[in-house]
Amino acid sequence: MTAKIIDGKAFAATVRGEVAEHVARLKEEHGLTPGLAVVLVGEDPASQVYVRSKGKMTAEVGMNSYEHRLDADTAEAELLALIKRLNADRDVHGILVQLPLPKHLDEDLVINAIDPEKDVDGFHISNVGLLGTGQKSMVPCTPLGCLMMLRDHHGSLSGMDAVVIGRSNIVGKPMAQLLLGDSCTVTIAHSRTKDLPQVVRRADIVVAAVGRPEMVPGDWIKPGATVIDVGINRIGAPEKGTNEDGSVKTRLVGDCHFESCAAVAGAITPVPGGVGPMTIACLLANTVTACCRANGLPEPEGLTA
Ligand code: NDP
Repeated sequence: MTAKIIDGKAFAATVRGEVAEHVARLKEEHGLTPGLAVVLVGEDPASQVYVRSKGKMTAEVGMNSYEHRLDADTAEAELLALIKRLNADRDVHGILVQLPLPKHLDEDLVINAIDPEKDVDGFHISNVGLLGTGQKSMVPCTPLGCLMMLRDHHGSLSGMDAVVIGRSNIVGKPMAQLLLGDSCTVTIAHSRTKDLPQVVRRADIVVAAVGRPEMVPGDWIKPGATVIDVGINRIGAPEKGTNEDGSVKTRLVGDCHFESCAAVAGAITPVPGGVGPMTIACLLANTVTACCRANGLPEPEGLTA
């Protein structure tokens, strides 16, 4: 079998197109422009790239983008004061604090200071609780993107066996909750799971969110299963040659060994070009949803869980 490649890049472009249509309608019919505030503390290079790309895409769909860059040694009280101002700002519908934060800042405290209705990352404890109890919440962007791709590919997920590898608060656990919400039979695997290959082999849906390059080989995959590869890992690629400074060039790979998994699976997301682009598209979708909720308007269909 050769798997269908689930094109996250193309799907994300479609989602962003739908978001842009909703934004245009909100402007035209209600005089509202959704606004997303992104807070970056420090100069982590990867975070800077993410923040730049989030700002660019926010503007592209017609929303307002507000960037707040703070020094790495910013005091916790100063960051909390900024969040308080953003919570009160009626032009800001979504607030995202880019993680990780510098070590001296308490991430839980900071995230839980965000108004849950503006918490477009879905990490606030209230949103975690709402998702866990099957209530309307802000859903974390990466798992939401995975769910959208799975629904698009399968239609109904009801009764399917799903294995999520990884139990982080930002990917694994909310992913499992969403799959459960769609009536899958869900197993969450992690570093202490016994006989992981055997656990994965029974899955109709495998979501890998581990952070270990190419850890899942094709012979763990049940023929015809759908593989969603969340992992983003940079590995050395000597075949691409060397950089000017003599270091070996690198390439991105997922948590699944793409070639061997694609030979067995029914469908698979590539890395790059799979889950990654969907994450930002879902952030934009969550911001539109937050804007609609804040103004008592109907939410856009198909852009929430
Ligand atoms: P974490 O490091 O927070 O969690 C990793 C999980 O994998 C843990 O639950 C850990 O288990 C489990 N794990 C580690 N080793 C093994 C193993 N040998 N066998 C089974 N399970 C194992 O990572 P994240 O959830 O934050 O991210 C996971 C990956 O997804 C990373 O590559 C990250 O870069 C990527 N990512 C991609 C995004 C995107 O937009 N595409 C967004 C967010 C993340 P235990 O709990 O027992 O330690």
